[in-house]
Amino acid sequence: MELARIEVVGRGISRDVPPGRSLGEAVKELGLRTVEYIPVVNGRVVTWDYVLRPGDEARLLPVVSGGAGCEVCGEEAVYNYLGISLCREHYIEYFEEKVLETIREHRLIRPGEHVAVAVSGGKDSLSLLYLLNKYRDLLGIELTALVIDEGIKGYRDLTIEDFMRINEDLGVKYRVISYEEVFGHGLDEIIMIARERGLPKYPCSYCGVFRRYLLNVGARIIGADVLATGHNLDDMVQTYLLNIVTNSLDRILHLLPRTSGADHPLLVPRVKPFYRSLEMETTLYSVLMGLYPSFIECVYAPEALRNDVRNYINELEERRPGIKYKIMNSLEELIEKLGPGTVRIGSCRICGEPTSGEVCRTCRYLDSLGLLENLLRWRSRLGIVEG
Ligand code: SF4
Ligand code: ZN
Repeated sequence: MELARIEVVGRGISRDVPPGRSLGEAVKELGLRTVEYIPVVNGRVVTWDYVLRPGDEARLLPVVSGGAGCEVCGEEAVYNYLGISLCREHYIEYFEEKVLETIREHRLIRPGEHVAVAVSGGKDSLSLLYLLNKYRDLLGIELTALVIDEGIKGYRDLTIEDFMRINEDLGVKYRVISYEEVFGHGLDEIIMIARERGLPKYPCSYCGVFRRYLLNVGARIIGADVLATGHNLDDMVQTYLLNIVTNSLDRILHLLPRTSGADHPLLVPRVKPFYRSLEMETTLYSVLMGLYPSFIECVYAPEALRNDVRNYINELEERRPGIKYKIMNSLEELIEKLGPGTVRIGSCRICGEPTSGEVCRTCRYLDSLGLLENLLRWRSRLGIVEG
């Protein structure tokens, strides 16, 4: 009989179990406490009475510690980290206040600004959109969601569906820009073209460079003053370590909660309101607020070095709780001592966008793929300003 699989994310536990009974029962039999996890089956959040079917892939996200009662009211805790226990209501209050405080303290978003929120449809960007929309009057901001559709079948199409579903209630205006419309092909096809041409790049190299490019251009098309991304503390720590591994000190010095944007007139400042929030905190918030995003991973993610770094840091955190904050503190101290990066930013000779070289990476990659003309046509069709 085909079995179902249960994996405990970040804890190295993976078991095949017989189908036909509830996930809650199966999890208890493995000696695990249901209050400590969020259950996700085949990429969707489910309840514990979900009946397992043959071939199901269940993933348990360890976001909740349970046990102790809420520090504030004594109710059952849904959050327990470094000795702080909070119930649902007080966790939401704590999380939102922490993010608003981060925004205020670092002047990440200023009253009167038009904020483009980079929305992938994943838990972080949806939580950010939800929270900024909830407090848009308090913050005094205008909001537009900017969705980049890379064209990754079985991943981005599903997360964009999640965004559309959730935004039906939120009603935030949005703009979708797809790789297909700009480059003539989605990422899946671009990878095939690269392979046919014998180009050595990993999918993420193309994807990351193109997405950053379109987020900046897209924010300008929208008329935004600032671009907000859902990067959380885990992302920051991973990027920090990745840049150490790849010897990119300048990039480390640019890991700021708000980039200035003063280096080039076409550069839209970027802000990261979640940069002091752990991934498990944004995950918990997304579930408690009923956003229920698909907890699915990009099909190309296993090829990414970031994945190995993430697993390593999660294992470390498991053994030494609080280590992520310590790494983050070290990053902030480093930037404070050395000052923000000093890379000279000029204009790409081909498209005019900001770059530290003569030709930007997007133009270089597209040229090697034979797709540069598509980008230039798209730019001139939309009348995008050149530097
Ligand atoms: Fe793009 Fe790589 Fe992220 Fe997938 S894992 S969305 S290919 S950067
Ligand atoms: Zn260029």
